[in-house]
Amino acid sequence: MIAEKIYIKTATADEAISMAYAHKDDFCYLAGGTDVLVNKYQGNKESKCLIDITGIAELKQVTITDTHVKIGSLVRLDDLKKHPVLQASFPALIIAAGEVASPMLRKTATIGGNVLCENRCSFYNQSEWWREAVGYCLKCEGDVCIATGGKKACFSKFVSDTAPVLISAGAQLEIADFDGTHIVDLETIYTGDGIKPRNLPETALILNIILPLGHDFLIVFKKLRPRLAVDFTSLTTAVSTDKHGNLRMVIGGVDPKPVLIKGRVEGNREDYIKSALQKTRVVDNDFYSRKYRRDMIRVFLEQSFEELMR
Ligand SMILES: Cc1cc2nc3c(=O)[nH]c(=O)nc-3n(C[C@H](O)[C@H](O)[C@H](O)COP(=O)(O)OP(=O)(O)OC[C@H]3O[C@@H](n4cnc5c(N)ncnc54)[C@H](O)[C@@H]3O)c2cc1C
Repeated sequence: MIAEKIYIKTATADEAISMAYAHKDDFCYLAGGTDVLVNKYQGNKESKCLIDITGIAELKQVTITDTHVKIGSLVRLDDLKKHPVLQASFPALIIAAGEVASPMLRKTATIGGNVLCENRCSFYNQSEWWREAVGYCLKCEGDVCIATGGKKACFSKFVSDTAPVLISAGAQLEIADFDGTHIVDLETIYTGDGIKPRNLPETALILNIILPLGHDFLIVFKKLRPRLAVDFTSLTTAVSTDKHGNLRMVIGGVDPKPVLIKGRVEGNREDYIKSALQKTRVVDNDFYSRKYRRDMIRVFLEQSFEELMR
């Protein structure tokens, strides 16, 4: 028998959260759907209930104050470039958003959905037939990680392209749930566990992404991928400096979470690169080899330091 499916379109954040609570055993928020629906049709993840949040007008705004920019979670990636303050203060975010997927997808995909995009692995993002043929992996009801030859941990990689830039600029999330609204540093929501990559409560709804103004961030973004169009990342780096001399290096596309290394502009760059190579857990789950992606971490960081100091 085919299980009954439920689709609910909501008009306010409160309504979305109460519907989520009512269906909390098996639901998913639906924004642009470019991740949710692909995962559903590929048989990777399917929820009985879809709660469509695209009608919530309050999540589509970009608001500027003296100290912050608030980007509503439903702002589409392609629309970020329309906001002069983002263009002026965070051009790397516009560049990163412009390198997600393809032009058509960016007109649908939202920034909230991008920071919560599901982790990927070349042994997981396959058809059901393919996954069955290799005996399934830990992320889809198997017993071991195939990419590592049998480890009992999942190393599916974190693939959001905007999150590394946002973290390098000290971004925070404004999150709503039953107990009200709270603010967390973006990097703290990622667990590093490829099976459950985020620690947010299921019903939590991202309202806004908050970026601090007035720090004079300079950010260099780099992305490695086989083809310049459509492909997911094989390595993403975002390196920032600010007017206080802080240096933040964020590495995505390799480990199950974005890896953040904090330093100072005058600090030892070789030490930072070694720290990046030690902290990132790169496994053979990508188009490129583990060795090549590790080598490219060094190349991207060295190039980024050069560009920032120039
Ligand atoms: C061919 C292809 C190529 C792609 N290439 C890239 C790429 O290069 N880089 C990249 O980063 N991504 C890529 N993606 C993945 C995806 O398109 C993007 O990550 C996109 O930004 C997801 O946004 P969305 O609005 O479609 O999210 P959805 O699919 O609607 O949602 C994604 C997740 O976020 C949750 N969610 C969404 N909004 C909220 C909210 N406000 N509060 C709480 N939960 C929420 C959903 O429940 C779901 O778990 C690609 C996808 C495809 C199909």
